Amino acid sequence: MKFSYKIVLCSLITMAAAFGIGGYFFVNDVFKASLEREIEQATDDGSILKFAFETAALNIPSKYDILQNSVIEEIGANLENSGQGSRRLLRLSDENREVLYASDGFVADTVLLADLEEQMRAYQIIHPDRHYYVQTGIMVNALGRVLYLETMRDVTEVYAERTRGFAVYRGLTILILVCSSIVMYIFSCWLTKPVRLLTRATKKMTAGDYSYRAEQISSDEMGQLTMDFNHMAKVVEENIQKLKEEIRAREDFIAAFSHELKTPLTAVIGYADMLRSRKLDEEKHFLSANYIYTEGKRLETMSLRLLDIIVTRRYEHEPQETDVAELFGYLQDLYRERDDRIVTFQYEPGRVLAEANLLKSVLLNLADNACKASEPGGIVEVLGENREEGYCFGVKDHGVGIPPEECRKITEAFYMVDKSRSRSHNGAGLGLALCVEILKLHHSTLMIDSTPGKGSFFWFVIPWEEVPADET
Ligand code: ADP
Repeated sequence: MKFSYKIVLCSLITMAAAFGIGGYFFVNDVFKASLEREIEQATDDGSILKFAFETAALNIPSKYDILQNSVIEEIGANLENSGQGSRRLLRLSDENREVLYASDGFVADTVLLADLEEQMRAYQIIHPDRHYYVQTGIMVNALGRVLYLETMRDVTEVYAERTRGFAVYRGLTILILVCSSIVMYIFSCWLTKPVRLLTRATKKMTAGDYSYRAEQISSDEMGQLTMDFNHMAKVVEENIQKLKEEIRAREDFIAAFSHELKTPLTAVIGYADMLRSRKLDEEKHFLSANYIYTEGKRLETMSLRLLDIIVTRRYEHEPQETDVAELFGYLQDLYRERDDRIVTFQYEPGRVLAEANLLKSVLLNLADNACKASEPGGIVEVLGENREEGYCFGVKDHGVGIPPEECRKITEAFYMVDKSRSRSHNGAGLGLALCVEILKLHHSTLMIDSTPGKGSFFWFVIPWEEVPADET
């Protein structure tokens, strides 16, 4: 059953119960008040008739000391017809409750008189032949006789009034319930609209439309729910996007890896085949063997770099305070003997929270790349300075530079701007990818400023303090 129907149904049941019970008590209260009025009227009538009977009995000249039955009958008949308009219903009984006179239609029994005492008035409601009467009884003392006077007052109309009251109230209740159910249905549709909008949004998302958002039409709890839902949808969409990008990156990686593997392997197989199937002169023999050796070396470098990247990704980072002089000193020693490029060092003293060996690897990769990009005799500057956010390392060259659209891609695994140039330097496009992984461990990012033909500046900042894991 729909939620809006449930709201309507619950409200209707509540209203029906409230109207039913309220109506019953209201009509019944009105009925009781009317009936009490009629009973009072009937007992008053009884008292008046008693008085009238006693007066009449006193005024009738009698030759006997006590009142005769015939006189009682006569007075009874007179009293019956003395009323204004309608005929009275009365009954007169003697000391033994034997009826002396009864009006036509006085159908009540004499049970009422059983315990009747002097000065007492008794009444009961009787229900003969679909009529309702108030039967009253009272003791009459006249000329030495004790008599009982009973009256009957028709109160059928009061009961009919109650039945009519119930019928009118029932009709009114039904009318109100029908009208209010229409109004409540409209209200419940309005109240449940946010739920319908949310349902539509979940269906759209289930069908794959992750950018769909539920419309927020109120600022109450339902509005808050819609806002939370939309926020959740945004996070889900972002996560899915991230996963898609990761999958794409992995596919690209596998494609590039197979390609990079295939190229040297084809050459190695080709030259090896030549060596074993043909008799080559000494020079060709050396060239073929040399080719196999260099390509084999390249494969070895590539597999070692890949291993480095994988190991770095799974690495449990344990940074230690390191003097930057140690890092720069290591590079200085390495490049001291090199005479094809001029590598200069300029750095401020400082200490960083890092793993020295990993940072050395980054600096070495950047310096090597800078040398490869520079012409023989070109200058490569290795720089270091203290900044507000951390210690900044940089490697600057004045070599070939990188086109702006390539800058973003060169940190991807196997990406090389100039493939033949990189391969001639034994490159496999994995050095910067390794640098990025190492810098990630140090909560740092590799920044690249480069102008084609003028040179490049690769730099990164190692923050002063270790960033908590959940903020990365
Ligand atoms: P490789 O092993 O080929 O050097 P890297 O990941 O270190 O791989 O570098 C990726 C590519 O980025 C290189 O092939 C080169 O084309 C380009 N590159 C890196 N550093 C520089 C630089 N300083 N100047 C120009 N190009 C560079």
